[in-house]
Amino acid sequence: MSKTVLILGGSFGGLHVAHALLKKNIKDVKVILVSKNTHFFWNLASVRAIIPGQIKDEDIFKPLESALSRYPAESWELVIGTATEADFDAKTVGITLADGAARTIPFDQLVLATGARTNPDAPWKAPGSYEQALAALHATSAGVANAQHIVVGGAGGTGIEVAGELGYEYGKTKEIVLLCAGDKLANGHSVAASAASELAKLNVTIKYNARVVEVRPSADNDNKTVVVLANGETVTTDLYLPTTGQVPNTDYIPARFLSGEGDSATAAGTVVVDEFLRVAGTQNVWACGDVVSKPRAGFFITQKQAASVAKNVEATLAGQQPAVAKGPPADIFACAVGRGRGVGRINNSIKLPSFVVWLSKGRNLAIPMLKGYIDGSIA
Ligand SMILES: Cc1cc2nc3c(=O)[nH]c(=O)nc-3n(C[C@H](O)[C@H](O)[C@H](O)COP(=O)(O)OP(=O)(O)OC[C@H]3O[C@@H](n4cnc5c(N)ncnc54)[C@H](O)[C@@H]3O)c2cc1C
Repeated sequence: MSKTVLILGGSFGGLHVAHALLKKNIKDVKVILVSKNTHFFWNLASVRAIIPGQIKDEDIFKPLESALSRYPAESWELVIGTATEADFDAKTVGITLADGAARTIPFDQLVLATGARTNPDAPWKAPGSYEQALAALHATSAGVANAQHIVVGGAGGTGIEVAGELGYEYGKTKEIVLLCAGDKLANGHSVAASAASELAKLNVTIKYNARVVEVRPSADNDNKTVVVLANGETVTTDLYLPTTGQVPNTDYIPARFLSGEGDSATAAGTVVVDEFLRVAGTQNVWACGDVVSKPRAGFFITQKQAASVAKNVEATLAGQQPAVAKGPPADIFACAVGRGRGVGRINNSIKLPSFVVWLSKGRNLAIPMLKGYIDGSIA
């Protein structure tokens, strides 16, 4: 009888696992990919896509159907919907389909790849439908075009990149302010000083010890936003762009499978996995990417985890033992700072020259790699 591998989430993790399994053409196995969006989103480029005229929608959004349709029709199914409840004992997942109808999908093997969303909402991830993701990007881009004063909240990797893109395009014509919660960028990471120096070259003002506690519309002017800081200070701006946090998309997963508390690298509520990336306490549920966020949320980590999960699902289907999951050989952190330069490091000790970061990331935000997620060569 045919077995079902159910994959939840059609982004870097989920699509990678789907390709890896479908390429093997495993006999009597059907892969069902559940995605809220009809399209795969190259979110690494969202920071530049908010600058009007820089990136075309069709260059960073590609239909998932075009990725899966290269495999035999009977071996896969794409379900556009949201996983709303999961019962790992009964081996079923409840889905609310895009048209509001409910469907319960039984599985033999389940892969959780529902990632994490920004908190508060921002266009750096696609937590809803394709149409909602496009609308969020377009609205932000229009806001950027109209604003004279822009505040970026949060000075981690995304905040540095957003401020860098704005500074590169508008540093001489608009006021760009980056709010940093502590006294160093990127949580005091080794790239902090070089990122600050690169942003200064782009006329970005960095405000340190500026933790955002509230954002509200201005009482005096409908078009302005007031950003309230922990020290009571307020900053009034035309546009506030938050990059302050991520929340794992795990609302549909029973709490006993989730981490109770977060740490400096991970939000609370991520999925707890063992060394095989199997959800702790299960035999046939696996997880990869930002839904796990260990050792941290990252694209290269997601890639490696997806490859391991696919191998372990395949082994388990064949009645074999899973293998310990492998991570990337080195932890690379690279931040584009505008369209001309960047900062980065390998393993927190080796500094990457600006030119190398520009060449590997900043020049095109790695958009050419998107092709591999559609033609399957990534897996
Ligand atoms: C601006 C930015 C730049 C980045 N740059 C880098 C970088 O240079 N290097 C790096 O290593 N990492 C980078 N990252 C991190 C990288 O984007 C993530 O690690 C990656 O997106 C993780 O992929 P994922 O598949 O695990 O999850 P996600 O990309 O979060 O995707 C999860 C998918 O699941 C869907 N989903 C959610 N809930 C449900 C549900 N209940 N049912 C069905 N589907 C659901 C979502 O809609 C989404 O499509 C960057 C992140 C941002 C925001």
